[in-house]
Amino acid sequence: MPEVTIANLSKKFAATTVLHGIDLTIEDGEFFTLLGPSGCGKSTTLSCIAGLEKPTTGSIAVGDRTFVDIAANTFVPPEGRNLGMVFQSYALWPHMTVAQNLALPLKIRKVDKQQKQSLIDDALDKVGLLHLKDRYPHQMSGGQQQRVALARALVYSPTVLLLDEPLSNLDAQLREQARTWLKRLQSELGITTVYVTHDQEEALALSDRIAVMQEGEMVQVGTPTEIYQEPATAGVAAFVGRCN
Ligand code: ADP
Ligand code: MG
Repeated sequence: MPEVTIANLSKKFAATTVLHGIDLTIEDGEFFTLLGPSGCGKSTTLSCIAGLEKPTTGSIAVGDRTFVDIAANTFVPPEGRNLGMVFQSYALWPHMTVAQNLALPLKIRKVDKQQKQSLIDDALDKVGLLHLKDRYPHQMSGGQQQRVALARALVYSPTVLLLDEPLSNLDAQLREQARTWLKRLQSELGITTVYVTHDQEEALALSDRIAVMQEGEMVQVGTPTEIYQEPATAGVAAFVGRCN
């Protein structure tokens, strides 16, 4: 059974349609990337999965849970979806320590105190930052802050991880390192991941499968090898070809 099932997903902002009836399935444990130029609808797709935007038509299910189905008038709000999210601006609370930043989503979920500590330690251990749990965000590098943001997204054991250009605020060298540990962590945890990027090199390096998006449509879905070696359109070829 696919982990994420998206059917006939479209989204209009006022008179402008930015997603045009997308159908997509993402398998359990897959590292799946939405790749495309700025403005093609990647973040909107992710926001619809997260429940931050309500689609105009269509449905989205994770496992056997329907999160949204416009025809059936079903809409589960973001806090009911148990998804982990990291966005480009990772926005840790500046006045809270690392441990306090991770405690917040657990508090919202009413996790008891004792369990809270072990979940926090466990999540920080996964990203290799347990020793920094009493630091404040400004006392850490951008790369470390990004790992804290990831730990915060993992702390309540989400079913799916949604990552929107999470490495784009890092400089080139840090980005390279972050890519490596992100890939290792994802495969160790085996967590289904939907990753958004406009960086074709990053997509080819990280993904099990890639959906290439253009103007609100999925132009091609395939493995990195398929996308790179057998681009479906001249547009896809031009877009992924630039990583040579
Ligand atoms: P991407 O993440 O691929 O850069 P987005 O999903 O952010 O693209 O945006 C797709 C299109 O939808 C863009 O043209 C953008 O301007 C538009 N858009 C996104 N969010 C809104 C919004 N809240 N209101 C109006 N237009 C929006
Ligand atoms: Mg975006």
